[in-house]
Amino acid sequence: MQQHADQYIGGAWRPSLGGEPLPVVNPATEQVIATVPAGTPADIDAAVAAARAAARSWGATTREQRLVPLTRLRDGLAARQQEIAETVSAEQGSPIGFAANVQAGLPLTVASGYLELLAGYEFQEQVGNSTVLAEPAGVVAAITPWNYPLHQIVAKVVPALAAGCTVVLKPAEDTPLVARLFAELVDAAGFPAGVFNLVTGLGTVVGAALVAHPEVDLVSFTGSTAVGRAIGEVAGRGVKKVALELGGKSANVVLPGADLARAVNVNAANVFANSGQTCTAWTRLLVHQDQYEEAVALAAKAAAKYRPGDPAAPQTRMGPVVSAKQRDRVRGYIESGLAQGARLVVGGAEAPAELPTGYYVQPTVLADVTPDMAVAREEIFGPVLSILAYRDEEHALEIANGTEYGLAGGVWAADQESAIAFARRMDTGQVHINGGQFNPLAPFGGYKSSGVGRELGRHGLEEFLQTKSLQL
Ligand code: NAD
Repeated sequence: MQQHADQYIGGAWRPSLGGEPLPVVNPATEQVIATVPAGTPADIDAAVAAARAAARSWGATTREQRLVPLTRLRDGLAARQQEIAETVSAEQGSPIGFAANVQAGLPLTVASGYLELLAGYEFQEQVGNSTVLAEPAGVVAAITPWNYPLHQIVAKVVPALAAGCTVVLKPAEDTPLVARLFAELVDAAGFPAGVFNLVTGLGTVVGAALVAHPEVDLVSFTGSTAVGRAIGEVAGRGVKKVALELGGKSANVVLPGADLARAVNVNAANVFANSGQTCTAWTRLLVHQDQYEEAVALAAKAAAKYRPGDPAAPQTRMGPVVSAKQRDRVRGYIESGLAQGARLVVGGAEAPAELPTGYYVQPTVLADVTPDMAVAREEIFGPVLSILAYRDEEHALEIANGTEYGLAGGVWAADQESAIAFARRMDTGQVHINGGQFNPLAPFGGYKSSGVGRELGRHGLEEFLQTKSLQL
């Protein structure tokens, strides 16, 4: 078992200042596979001081100078892809195939996209008699969750460094090992000391100390809406820039005339991938009342393909959820849905019989779900699909827009134009039209309680910039 006692601060691995060991548990075996330090506010002070000390000189580099270590970092992500996949699979539970393609593959695509963007980005423009400069926002606090642990790190750290900011990263408690691997890659890439720093530990201790730190200029947070609200309040008091990527309860709307079978199959893949721990997951399938039972039967068939199993086995499509806490939460929601009158189509709250060890949840489909039920309103973050019936398009829109969230969604129709027309009326940050692919270069973020700001692509880079006008 690896027992780590250090944090990456000021360009070196240093002993944590008083941090007790924090266990890292493999959710498939329930075994402790490593410990990392539960950092202290003293670690945060040291990391922020290092980031502050490096901010002016790193912020004054040219984009060509920044591209050199950033390119090495991207190449490191490529070279250690297999190790990244194995690390995420072990600490987070993703099946190894999914971990290789998505958990390790997506960050590489995102990093490569940012290299290209940076190479062509103009940090200066002329507006009448003014020269407008895009300058780095300064010291960035990056706080990330465990569901796509490396993707969320890369989606913040790479654009922040590309913009000329310095960073203190606080990764999720459950997935610190891939964050440490990322720090090793940063170290090997030759960034100046202090440009990137990593402090592992509890959100309520080191996360909170980081957000409140007076020397932090910008907080970029991905996680739950409850924590996001609290962070927004603290950041607001400190007049810090804040970007919040929060929860979702996305609707997949199948309009009459669409390819229902394809829409339901893609929905199942979307909601059961990563054991449902995807903030953009289409957790509500909205179908016309005349096609309702057909959709329920299709969903039952599709769910059968996602039998949970050992994430280390290459054929496994669905692993466990990340922790016992998450498993209990998901099971609680399934029970609440049934208690409120939903019909169990497949799955259920019990552990899969053949998997006594590990935090497994059965892929579950609930029918006869109505918009007022908790399973239709609240984020479950597990492999649970709720199917709702609508009467007509207006009713479908009312249900789709009827939660506090607005992160993603899907629309399927007989033709692109009708689907696009419907999508324009949805209060949400991303909509997939007739199965359009996820685009990691397109802006990503939420309406309503799903967040503030955008990640990915040009919009993501610009989150880390501030403007200065020189009047000539
Ligand atoms: P969480 O909010 O509990 O934790 C996220 C991060 O915040 C962790 O690193 C945690 O340690 C830290 N944290 C917790 N309390 C803190 C505090 N008081 N101050 C500072 N930091 C604190 O969320 P989670 O359980 O890790 O992740 C699941 C949630 O994240 C889901 O709700 C999901 O929808 C959301 N999520 C959103 C996106 C998105 O892009 N919108 C992506 C992934 C996950």
